[in-house]
Amino acid sequence: MLAALRPSTKLIVLCSPNNPTGNPVHEKDVLTLLDTGRIVVVDEAYVEFSNHPQGLARLVPMYQNLVGLRTLSKWAGLAGLRVGYGLCPEWIAQHIRRAQNPFEVNMAGHIAAILALNNLDDVQNNVRGIINEREHLFKLLAQQPYLAPIPSEGNFILAHLLDQTVTIEKVRAIVESHGILLRYFQSSSLQNSPRVTVGLPQHTEKLAEALASIETRGVK
Ligand SMILES: *Cc1c(COP(=O)(O)O)cnc(C)c1O
Repeated sequence: MLAALRPSTKLIVLCSPNNPTGNPVHEKDVLTLLDTGRIVVVDEAYVEFSNHPQGLARLVPMYQNLVGLRTLSKWAGLAGLRVGYGLCPEWIAQHIRRAQNPFEVNMAGHIAAILALNNLDDVQNNVRGIINEREHLFKLLAQQPYLAPIPSEGNFILAHLLDQTVTIEKVRAIVESHGILLRYFQSSSLQNSPRVTVGLPQHTEKLAEALASIETRGVK
């Protein structure tokens, strides 16, 4: 990212934990980028699933050029309702307020967010359940001779296909025949890397059955 900086660069956007890889951005790397004086925006949509749920946004009070973005879409399960918030220095908030629409969050979003916050114990239990199930899912993916999963701090795991004989089309077709949809990507660097969302234990079991039926040469 430093190499890509131009004199005209005004804003640097990071995602931590990153989507779709699931890895967090190291704090020292963010500090290096903050030292460039550019505004650094860290998208923390998955931070509640990470090993450091307080996230990089906790540094906002110390820097005039750091912005943290959060959402209730993932940890609170409110995807589609568009409820989120940002943490930023006052001077940046003033600019955002000028561009903001008067009613950003609709009534359904307000009600859902209030319910989530009033039932925080239950919601946080779900988050803990997903974190536990992520370890289970990782082990399952790592057991497949044709898959190399990437350790994830999000609610999904990206895996690279290792074996040329097991194509993404084949994996998708077999898994879909078991009623499971895999997230896939068009870009050349990710086209052989399905991403699996962490679900309930019974979902992992179903995926295990589907993956067990994929034949390989056993290369790893
Ligand atoms: C889901 C997601 C968001 C948040 O989207 P909402 O508009 O709040 O639903 C932001 N960034 C990333 C990387 C995400 O995956």
